[in-house]
Amino acid sequence: MQVYDSHCHLADVRFAGVRRAVLARAAEAHVNALLAVAAEAADWPQLLRLRRRCPQVGVAFGLHPWFEHDPAALQRLPEWLQRGHARAVGECGLDFGAGRAARGEQEALLLPQLRLARELSLPVILHAHKSEDVLAMHLARLPGVRGVVHGFHGSQQQADRFLQLGFYLGLGAAITYPNAQRLRAVVASLPLERMVLESDAPDQPPFGRSRPNEPAFVLDTLSVLASLHGLNVEAMAEVTWQNAVSLFHRTYAKPPQQRSSTSPY
Ligand SMILES: [Zn+2]
Ligand SMILES: [Zn+2]
Repeated sequence: MQVYDSHCHLADVRFAGVRRAVLARAAEAHVNALLAVAAEAADWPQLLRLRRRCPQVGVAFGLHPWFEHDPAALQRLPEWLQRGHARAVGECGLDFGAGRAARGEQEALLLPQLRLARELSLPVILHAHKSEDVLAMHLARLPGVRGVVHGFHGSQQQADRFLQLGFYLGLGAAITYPNAQRLRAVVASLPLERMVLESDAPDQPPFGRSRPNEPAFVLDTLSVLASLHGLNVEAMAEVTWQNAVSLFHRTYAKPPQQRSSTSPY
């Protein structure tokens, strides 16, 4: 069995000093590929070192909506993505939860990253919280942008919309909580070919696991996902592995440029 953790934050300070052990435990749990995503520019050098040292680790560079970023970071992002052999742009996105930055500010950070993903033919890793409809509206205006909505926890209608837009849905530990009946019903309805598995470690520990979460625990999520679809764990591991490979390990044909000077897209 081989398991692909499509979303973890290996540069997070909570893994300082224990990264090697965390990766060893992941390997023991058959987590043989990990996509380490960035939240801030400060994560980028750390992730690049990790990618060079650990062949099972791929990286994504981006600017997360929870944090304030130096405007120069956005300028440096294209070079990091290209020279760092990034598999995706991310994570980036929109979060309209309490205490987050104003919508306009978040959009001003997100839209250039979406355009960049399209220009570089890279998939994008999107964070969505209370923002799914707005995010889908932007994606509909940006044909050619591909990627995944990670940690998906929206409605059936929102899932259908992202699938229609050609997006994958990243499924994490939220589905392991017994009270997540609504989400589980949505996840059970998803087509097998559009689901990827993720830990989001060190955040979002599965039900019954203590913090910090780590990639090895993604097996708990895998097991719930398999049972929701009536598959055995090995089969679901293979499905989600192949999906992650299709999404992150292939280069897309460059879409035609559709930018006009007046459009924000
Ligand atoms: Zn996120
Ligand atoms: Zn994340």
